[in-house]
Amino acid sequence: MVKLYDLSQPLNQDFPFWPLYPPFEVKYIKRKSEHGVNAQYIMTSNHIGTHLDAPRHFVTHGKTVDQIPLEQLYGTGVVVDVTEAGELGLITPEMVESKIDVKERDIIVFYTGWVKYAWYQPTADEEKYTLLHPGMGRDMVEWMIKKKIKWFGVDTPSPDHPMNLPLGRFLPRVADRVRRLSEQKFGGPEAIKKLFPEEDYQLMHNALFPYDIVHVEHIGGQIEELLNGRKAIRTTLGAFPWLFKGGEAAFCRVVAFVEE
Ligand SMILES: [Zn+2]
Repeated sequence: MVKLYDLSQPLNQDFPFWPLYPPFEVKYIKRKSEHGVNAQYIMTSNHIGTHLDAPRHFVTHGKTVDQIPLEQLYGTGVVVDVTEAGELGLITPEMVESKIDVKERDIIVFYTGWVKYAWYQPTADEEKYTLLHPGMGRDMVEWMIKKKIKWFGVDTPSPDHPMNLPLGRFLPRVADRVRRLSEQKFGGPEAIKKLFPEEDYQLMHNALFPYDIVHVEHIGGQIEELLNGRKAIRTTLGAFPWLFKGGEAAFCRVVAFVEE
């Protein structure tokens, strides 16, 4: 028997949108009483809710959503607990390899614990979720290229560390605080300069998309139920975006298919 675990977050207008991006809008354009039918209309960016970023998001002639084969989006992989990274922490390859063996062409879903702060949770904390999540750096880029990872998912708004995003660099009202907290965490301005150099802006996007290593943001749903207290598991995973021709990203449903 295969049991399905939905690793997607719910999405509606209450989902906190990515800073500097437009919000998710939904409204009824037909009602049963007047038109004999209920129909909705949405207006949105692609970068909200559980979604797959395609290479085109950062590479001019990069693959679009429809050009990523289903075989890349589905397959075996690991789900791994990296909660030790914590607020504004760096997730490292060692955090994964110390818990489970990762094979070439695996899929990886990272559980940072940040989904606890997602908007739909009883423990929701919109600022912590969006601004202070853990992220990844250079060592992870090199490791993922070596492992030829098919795709990876994170239960945060981005796999990039906030210091490599607008959040820690220039977002008004926010950047100073993110920088100050990061300096506290890593030991001052010099450490920050070394860990997050100018050229590493949006590193996990810019450095991996040329290799067609794509990622899913805002993983959630039953991820905690799936791990069930274990630090890592091997299972079958799939990310299923709509067949968006020319799309630089697309909403997707992420599913773990577990033999039980
Ligand atoms: Zn995105």
